[in-house]
Amino acid sequence: MVDADQTFVIVGGGLAGAKAAETLRAEGFTGRVILICDERDHPYERPPLSKGYLLGKEERDSVFVHEPAWYAANDIELHLGQTVDAIDRTAKTVRFGEDGTVVRYDKLLLATGAEPRRLDIPGTDLAGVHHLRRLAHAERLKHVLTNLGRDNGHLVIAGAGWIGLEVAAAARSYGAEVTVVEHGPTPLHGALGPELGGLFAELHREHGVRFHFGRRLTEIVGQDGMVLAARTDDGEEHPAHDVLAAIGAAPRTALAEAAGLEIADRAQGGASWSTSGCAPPTPTSTRPATRPPSTTPSSIRTCGWSTGPTR
Ligand SMILES: Cc1cc2nc3c(=O)[nH]c(=O)nc-3n(C[C@H](O)[C@H](O)[C@H](O)COP(=O)(O)OP(=O)(O)OC[C@H]3O[C@@H](n4cnc5c(N)ncnc54)[C@H](O)[C@@H]3O)c2cc1C
Repeated sequence: MVDADQTFVIVGGGLAGAKAAETLRAEGFTGRVILICDERDHPYERPPLSKGYLLGKEERDSVFVHEPAWYAANDIELHLGQTVDAIDRTAKTVRFGEDGTVVRYDKLLLATGAEPRRLDIPGTDLAGVHHLRRLAHAERLKHVLTNLGRDNGHLVIAGAGWIGLEVAAAARSYGAEVTVVEHGPTPLHGALGPELGGLFAELHREHGVRFHFGRRLTEIVGQDGMVLAARTDDGEEHPAHDVLAAIGAAPRTALAEAAGLEIADRAQGGASWSTSGCAPPTPTSTRPATRPPSTTPSSIRTCGWSTGPTR
């Protein structure tokens, strides 16, 4: 069978999915390329969501991997806002969208990425509790930080990983009061160890961030649907108008698992880590693809206080 008769389906329109489509065309694949993503936005890069875009230094348009016109120009069939909910490996089909469209593939790439871990404590359904994974989350958070800065409001961040620290830096630049609650003894403890982590803590303290190390959030206290405070396991209540859960991300493996694919976990040599570096890796966490952890010097991030390149 020649390329032109083949169909390559990509599930997931993050950086991996978009770059896979680009590479197929760049390397001369002439068949159908179908990219399906449950997000409504064209594929974009997430790093600016906690950095330049959140800080208001980068325009929304700058985050996209390709201009919208690129997909049609390269004959990539893009299905946005559509979830793939089943793979039939015998029939070689995927099913997606509300109408259950079925498409046949010759090759299938699962690039389903990760989703933020959720706090499992009372109060997480309050309006002022946020996550940061998607462009829409960043848009909302930017608005929240602007208001907190204007009103001298308080943001409590659960998790002193990369995303928690980057948002802490952004929030301070807007003028918000910031408390970071972290169960480890220093920020980024698992990724960088105590000495470098301590330096990060000092840097952030110099910019007015308060830390509460060795503690976990136990409750987000609210009234009439609004956040009032965040309580930690030492019984302390921290004033809060908004709370960001930045406790890491978990790989989205449900689709692969349902299709009977074997998912390697860390113990079996699979590379599993929090994509945001925030949470300590759990022995049972899994990840469908491998990538080196982002702690090499070329990829160390600066968490917002501009001292060098961020990626
Ligand atoms: C705020 C933030 C800042 C970051 N900063 C950095 C940084 O500075 N440096 C760095 O190295 N990394 C950073 N990362 C991590 C980096 O963004 C991720 O490693 C990267 O997003 C992984 O890309 P991906 O394409 O594999 O997955 P994702 O970006 O997660 O994309 C997967 C896509 O697939 C979609 N999808 C999942 N399941 C389905 C389904 N069944 N049907 C249809 N669509 C589906 C998802 O909605 C998503 O759009 C950051 C992450 C965040 C959230």
